Amino acid sequence: MKIAVYPGTFDPVTLGHLDIIRRGAHIVDKLVIGVTTNPSKEPMFTVAERMTMVKREVAGIPGNIDVVEFDSLLMDFAEAQGAEAILRGLRAVADFEYEFQMAGMNQKLNDNIETVFLMADVSLQPIASKLVKEIARYGGSIDSFVTPAVVEDVRRHLNGSH
Ligand code: ADP
Repeated sequence: MKIAVYPGTFDPVTLGHLDIIRRGAHIVDKLVIGVTTNPSKEPMFTVAERMTMVKREVAGIPGNIDVVEFDSLLMDFAEAQGAEAILRGLRAVADFEYEFQMAGMNQKLNDNIETVFLMADVSLQPIASKLVKEIARYGGSIDSFVTPAVVEDVRRHLNGSH
């Protein structure tokens, strides 16, 4: 059974993430989405909120998909999940340097787990959680970047009524 881990902050989960998840779930037997606590990124949503969002959004995606919170070294998490691969999405050149370095260091930590890169649909490639939050904070529409339910989550959060 081929298991891959797709790790991320998902703050919030975007149509870009969901496209990578759809493509990933299609090529492995089981895809484990690892939602990291990542306090260094000062997320807008708590890990519990991000878990709920990701679980809700992947419910309709075909395949064997698990959503698991983690707060450890990625390679330890992947090993504990029985994964043979780490899945990452690549957007533009800007992602490359960071991803290249991380994949290289992870390879040193555990050479049995491969990092595999997927590209989202061309139309979804510019989407980044960070920009979604910025646009929403300034009152712009985020409808083309996230699902309607996530639009609501972000709106509720910004209104302070979550
Ligand atoms: P991280 O905090 O690990 O960067 P993110 O939630 O920002 O987590 O992203 C998780 C993964 O999804 C990363 O590999 C990132 O490059 C990828 N990703 C995010 N948005 C897109 C997109 N629009 N197209 C393709 N990959 C994406």
